[in-house]
Amino acid sequence: MGVVGELLKGLKVTGMELVRTVTGRRMLTTQYPKEKRVKPQRFHGRHVLNRYPDGMEKCIGCELCAGACPARCIYVRGEDNDPENPTSPGERFGFVYEINMLRCIFCGLCVEACPTEAITMTHLFEISTTNREDAMYTRDELLMHPDGTVPHMFPDDPLADLGELDSADGWVRATAPSGYAAYEGVQMWQGTPGPADWSPEPDQDERDA
Ligand code: SF4
Ligand code: SF4
Repeated sequence: MGVVGELLKGLKVTGMELVRTVTGRRMLTTQYPKEKRVKPQRFHGRHVLNRYPDGMEKCIGCELCAGACPARCIYVRGEDNDPENPTSPGERFGFVYEINMLRCIFCGLCVEACPTEAITMTHLFEISTTNREDAMYTRDELLMHPDGTVPHMFPDDPLADLGELDSADGWVRATAPSGYAAYEGVQMWQGTPGPADWSPEPDQDERDA
């Protein structure tokens, strides 16, 4: 096939794509930000630090997430809990917690390494920044509020979809008992942001029966 033949062959492919697009048979364009695609359940978006239903922080400052991170973008410093007013159920809690989103490759290894499901990932992908400092997520920006909601760095940004912070990986939705009898019968949060939508845990006797 000569040059003209190759040219016609290429134009035919281009023409077919044009027809498919114009007729809507292969509409690949999403009118973002007006429209947003539903992301897969296991989508790896920005991280959050979770709490137990009694408000205790799940992070025990063990630094396993930092050790597992292939991009070396997590910085954790643990500190001993105050016995009278502990921050986490462990001996220590994550006193400093930072993630450098400029280096993060969203692999999720930190989530897998965490023994307490403290660090999980949401469906939020709108995390672009205009300077490097804003890309350093600090403990304050990562830690969920006591009511189960999660802070957003740019709550007033028209592109910020706060609802996406309620969606997270399905595979980390296990519950973790707080261990306090006072919380028997209280509906637990899931291991990820937002209120749980299942029945409260029964008490120990009921479970053992
Ligand atoms: S998702 Fe991967 S690269 Fe990002 S902080 Fe976690 S372990 Fe590190
Ligand atoms: S997030 Fe998990 S793995 Fe990382 S320091 Fe806290 S408890 Fe340890």
